[in-house]
Amino acid sequence: MSTLQIHMFPCLSDNYGFLIHDPDSGQTAAIDTPDGDEIAAQSDAKGWQLTEIWNTHWHPDHTGGNVLLKERYGCTVRAPGRKPPLPGVDVVVEGGDSFTLGTHRVDVIATPGHTLEHVVFHVPNAGACFVGDTIFTLGCGRLFEGTAQQMWESFGKVLALPEETKLYCAHEYTMSNAKFAQAVDGGLPALEDAVARYAAMRERGEATVPTTVGAERATNPFWLAGSAAVLGERRSLKDSGKF
Ligand code: ZN
Ligand code: FE
Repeated sequence: MSTLQIHMFPCLSDNYGFLIHDPDSGQTAAIDTPDGDEIAAQSDAKGWQLTEIWNTHWHPDHTGGNVLLKERYGCTVRAPGRKPPLPGVDVVVEGGDSFTLGTHRVDVIATPGHTLEHVVFHVPNAGACFVGDTIFTLGCGRLFEGTAQQMWESFGKVLALPEETKLYCAHEYTMSNAKFAQAVDGGLPALEDAVARYAAMRERGEATVPTTVGAERATNPFWLAGSAAVLGERRSLKDSGKF
């Protein structure tokens, strides 16, 4: 059996687009649709026929290309339930659901916090989890709809995946997150090493996504918070714009 292939590319100002392709079945999924034209161009360039869209949450920088891509490729849109529904949805998914890409299982994990319906997609055979706006490298999504308690539990579910699991975050926010992480956990060797490495990567124009479960367990200030209450305090502090 050949291996699942993941292709990642920048979209809009700071989003990433993701395609996952199964060479055996020919199936290809786009995870979120920040920019329909760019996703179409990238999948065409790869010679991959888009068969699926998996949405993490309703925000327009995650669903804006759904309709264009569905019209162009006739792909199946899997998205969490919401009123009004996410654009073009064919199959509503919720935490605990599983479906397949070819023969590869995909597990849906509910991660409320950033929005209430937010889900992430774990693909064990790819060692990958597409985490949307739940976890970022050194960061976490803003609490637009959910509570700190919900986000803390969502972090717990994602960071309970195998340590080497790659986390495909939907935005490149790392250097801003690094500044905040150093303000609250500065001096922690794992954090200082990670920040130095990420800064060098950004200078070379490289993405700091994906991160891994192991890296975020050791360095993410919202996990190092150690409790929902402290996660909430840190989130408010970061939102205050002082960092
Ligand atoms: Zn969002
Ligand atoms: Fe986003």
